[in-house]
Amino acid sequence: MQINSFQYYLPVNLIFGPGKTEVLGEEAARYGKKVMIVTGRRSTKRSGLLDRAKSLLEKAGTEVIVFDEAEPNPSASTVMRGAGIAKEAGIQVIVGLGGGSIMDCSKAIAFAACNEGPVFDYIYGKRTGKKALPLILVPTTCGTGSEGNCFAVLTDDGTKDKKSLRDNSVIARASIIDPDLMKTMPKKVLASVGFDALCHCMEAYLSGTCSQITELFALEGIRLIGENLIPVYNGLEDIEAWCRITFASTLGGMSINQAGVTAPHGLEHPASGLRNITHGRGLAALAPVIYRRSISSAPEKFAWISRLLGGTNETDFVSTLTSFLEKLDLRTNLATEGVKAADIDWMTENAFKVSLVSIQNHPKVFTEEEVREIYREALGD
Ligand SMILES: [Zn+2]
Repeated sequence: MQINSFQYYLPVNLIFGPGKTEVLGEEAARYGKKVMIVTGRRSTKRSGLLDRAKSLLEKAGTEVIVFDEAEPNPSASTVMRGAGIAKEAGIQVIVGLGGGSIMDCSKAIAFAACNEGPVFDYIYGKRTGKKALPLILVPTTCGTGSEGNCFAVLTDDGTKDKKSLRDNSVIARASIIDPDLMKTMPKKVLASVGFDALCHCMEAYLSGTCSQITELFALEGIRLIGENLIPVYNGLEDIEAWCRITFASTLGGMSINQAGVTAPHGLEHPASGLRNITHGRGLAALAPVIYRRSISSAPEKFAWISRLLGGTNETDFVSTLTSFLEKLDLRTNLATEGVKAADIDWMTENAFKVSLVSIQNHPKVFTEEEVREIYREALGD
């Protein structure tokens, strides 16, 4: 392996293991006495995790309020509302409890509580922020890897731009990654978040800016998901297998922190920003179409990924990926997910607006006409 110049900086404190949720109270109490839990409306209530988190925090001597409005594909307006409540209550620590959308929402609330003005001003670089409230993340899905990076993906209510806030201040002071919490995920959710994690690893590995350290993380993430996601999806009750896919998801999140994402995420964000579709399903619709057009630009890398997913070389990569998706009941197209043919022009234009860097990181840099063609094919109707 040729070792090129690189810079690698990611100060995240990962606390990993079954049962580790128990340390939530003491970790949060290090940073202050007034805590706001950011969570969604349903799943952490139904599973009992919210009550458990509250009692762990209170036992550690903190005062807790709950903001339960984080929604899938979180919007800037929700973030601003949460930040307003946090400021008014004098909150000192934010705890993000839930899946990727919730963690991203909590990161952005921690940021917006310390920086004046609309959060999208910082996303588009009109202003620069310096700090955020200390943040503790407790993921309940193994997909986004948000617990291991400095991104918070948000959607602007007005423009429908879906784009990441990217700031080191929103790297968690502690991410408590407890594979036991993943077991309450519905099967359908596991498939889509697991595929998202795989995409993070594949895209980071294929990125033009992938460093040697990231390559190790990304390849190991692909291997672990390739070997474990389908058995777990099919009902394998083995905590070791859950640990492996959970770990792979964190590796994916850490990988994109350095290498960024590439065309699949770059083209998916306009679709889910506009039509509020499930991120992993949008990726499932787009990835095979994009990769079929990309293999000749990085055949050796595609050969590696193919082997890690059970194929033989680059020539069977797309069919290997497609059968992987089939086994997760995740073969879909954009039309099924709610995208209309009339959306293609907007999505194409928006992809170059919100995802230019991701498009440029991809092994094959697509033109506007090629992107339009990809959307057309991925629409599938
Ligand atoms: Zn993703």
